[in-house]
Amino acid sequence: MTPMELLTTRINLDAIAHNTRLLKDLVGDARLMAVVKADGYGHGAGRVAQVMAENGADCFGVATLQEAIDLRNEGIARPILAWIWSTGQDIAEALSLNIQLAIPSVEHAQVLVDAAVPARVSVKVDTGLHRSGVDEADWARVFTMLHEAEHLTVTGVFSHLACADEPDNPTNNEQAAGLDRAIALARSLGLDVPVNHLCNSPGTLTRPDLHHEQVRVGLALYGLSPIPDVDPGLRPAMSWIGRITVVKPISPGESTSYSHTWTAEEPGWLAVVPAGYADGVPRSWQGRLQVGIGGKLYPQVGRVCMDQIVVSLGANEFDVQPGDEAVIFGEGGLDATALADATGTINYEIICRPTGRTVREYEGGIDL
Ligand SMILES: *Cc1c(COP(=O)(O)O)cnc(C)c1O
Repeated sequence: MTPMELLTTRINLDAIAHNTRLLKDLVGDARLMAVVKADGYGHGAGRVAQVMAENGADCFGVATLQEAIDLRNEGIARPILAWIWSTGQDIAEALSLNIQLAIPSVEHAQVLVDAAVPARVSVKVDTGLHRSGVDEADWARVFTMLHEAEHLTVTGVFSHLACADEPDNPTNNEQAAGLDRAIALARSLGLDVPVNHLCNSPGTLTRPDLHHEQVRVGLALYGLSPIPDVDPGLRPAMSWIGRITVVKPISPGESTSYSHTWTAEEPGWLAVVPAGYADGVPRSWQGRLQVGIGGKLYPQVGRVCMDQIVVSLGANEFDVQPGDEAVIFGEGGLDATALADATGTINYEIICRPTGRTVREYEGGIDL
């Protein structure tokens, strides 16, 4: 953090490299698709994708066409699959950049058939998530349409698990059987479908029998586990850090921040951290957040403001000073999973939180 920056996400590229190698190793012969949607889960898609490519990621997955286009333009040459697009969208640029498109409905299949431009596509089949994906009743129709369209190459069939974070949930096996039926049907209708996939991070970590030819891993590459107690040695890559702007005393009976919801009972010290709800610290985190300063955890107190939070330092026995770093989550503070537990959400959402005036900085990795 340079002295000028008040609020940063610090991204450890060595952790990204470590997690990528670990997962590549874990999946053995299966291809590792690194999911870098939502700007690489907030880590900066272009930068982390490069590190992932150097450490064993075979290809990349994103949500939208724009994410895929941006990634290609940032120099990622490996295959990129995008799975969220609408049939009214202009797909020409994505196809010209050799982006693979997912087909999540009959209508999407029709758009690609009509486009009459060479494209590599992957059929997303609904096996029980009931979100996007071609319904089983339409599988044969879509596979036949695609088989007859000579400009299209179908790379595979894939599906997405609804309950992968509950390894014992029978839905996982039902969906796995559904994908097997889809693959068999596609082949019986003349499609090769060489690369099929089902597993996200929790599926990848707990169901090696369902890896198929490829896995689609996001969260675990960023060093977090989707399931408590399942951790093959991942290293969290992101820390969110504010630089303390003010340290000041408070007397018994005095209150801090809007509406005076917290009142000091003893003489003590407060620190002000320049991160508020405009930066992604929700107002609802009041009283649940603890901030790491000098390796010690201190409670956030009072209302979360638009630009700032207040932390109680107690007697400030470790002499916290303005300019010191306050870790909202990550190394030296609560880890993202503990913060998620404390605030009633999941670690996926925590790493997507930092926004507003947060500046991203990288450490580790090779110098580019
Ligand atoms: C986000 C996403 C993934 C990655 O999920 P993780 O649990 O983060 O590994 C995989 N597949 C699809 C379709 C996704 O949308």
